[in-house]
Amino acid sequence: MALSRRVDARRTGGYGSGVISVGEALALVLEDTPRLGTERVPLADALGRVAAEDVASARAVPADDNSAMDGYAVRGADLTGPGVRLRVVGVAPAGTVAATPLAPGTAWKIFTGSVVPPGADTVVKVEDTDGGAGEVTIVAPPARGANVRHAGEDIAVGAVVVRAGTGLGPADLGVLASVGRSSVQVVQRPRVAIVSTGAELIEIDATPAPGQVVNSNAASLAAAVVEAGGVPVVLPIVRDRREDIRAALAEAARADVVLSSGGVSVGDFDFVKEEFDALGVARRFWKVAQKPGKPLTFGRRDRTLFFGLPGNPVSALVCFLVYVRPALRKMAGHAALHLPTVDARLAAPVRTAPALTEFVRVRLTRCDGEWAAEPFPSQSSGVLTSMSAGAGLLVARPGAALVVGDRYPVIVPAAVTLETVDPASAVR
Ligand code: AMP
Ligand code: MG
Repeated sequence: MALSRRVDARRTGGYGSGVISVGEALALVLEDTPRLGTERVPLADALGRVAAEDVASARAVPADDNSAMDGYAVRGADLTGPGVRLRVVGVAPAGTVAATPLAPGTAWKIFTGSVVPPGADTVVKVEDTDGGAGEVTIVAPPARGANVRHAGEDIAVGAVVVRAGTGLGPADLGVLASVGRSSVQVVQRPRVAIVSTGAELIEIDATPAPGQVVNSNAASLAAAVVEAGGVPVVLPIVRDRREDIRAALAEAARADVVLSSGGVSVGDFDFVKEEFDALGVARRFWKVAQKPGKPLTFGRRDRTLFFGLPGNPVSALVCFLVYVRPALRKMAGHAALHLPTVDARLAAPVRTAPALTEFVRVRLTRCDGEWAAEPFPSQSSGVLTSMSAGAGLLVARPGAALVVGDRYPVIVPAAVTLETVDPASAVR
């Protein structure tokens, strides 16, 4: 297809053999990413999922005309002016239905949510009356029809309350509940197998001997998978031995997505690419003109996607955010695939690699009504603290030196806490 041909043409020039641009790599990933099938889940499990059906309501919500206030249900025609006195013929607590139609000159005492008795068309709130029991004086008559919530005012019979493709939030789940739906058909969540490769890796609880490194990628990637709406399956650490990698990948291939980390570069013990090949994974690319994460590789076998992420913790996570997260979102049926960006002014100088797209880790702050991006002092792909809370990824285009004071797009990872405001102080 056209895109692949364009990429192949690039392979002979541009960045050098096989190296493709960030945009090309992302397009290839998304081109190969299928949407998953659907399943029915209870509402309690549906938050953040994407609806796979149009849900039409068989009911009106609210079901009946009911009161928006505590007060008296009256006939609007009786409210001829202040001081009108009406005989109170009954009390209708919420959950009850008045037995008899309202006769002229009478009122029902009524409460928020109570069904308005037949014949009544207006509710006078209790504050506008003398609160009388046997008889009530209407001190301030409201307009005819006031304080009545009409049947079907929220949802009419037959109305579609949730459309296929909707990301389900708390209000959507409440709406589904209100029309009597306790479950909903949604797109499946991708299962993501995480394979950490590296002879130096140890589990979190182990004490590192010289040369050993704690497997932090499994922790950060598993969390990133959850945040992206996937289900992580963390496999045991794999040594840099072909047979071990092969066996682990064969196990991982049962998932919708395989995320390996480490072993994709040009080192003597970097076997992951070859083992993807051996497993029959159709490689779409190896090496992207980016920093961090240049050795990223990607391919597909049947409906399973294989990402070979570089081992450096920052590289692995940046590649996840830029390539894997959108793929997981597409699999799960989301329309919006990418993280949001803000435009931010560069606050301090930072050197970037000339021919690469660089994802510069920056701290985002508000400054004079604008975003300011302050680069972290270390841009090393081993310094994972540069990606902890508050970090954004400033996108520097290849070949463009960054200028302090100029504005650049900054990807805002989901975990970043933007300015938060309590609702009271938001009222100015
Ligand atoms: P590699 O991509 O295998 O060449 O690894 C690059 C760097 O990332 C090395 O310093 C590794 O020790 C480190 N690294 C690889 N895998 C992990 C991991 N799972 N957790 C933390 N660091 C890792
Ligand atoms: Mg390694």
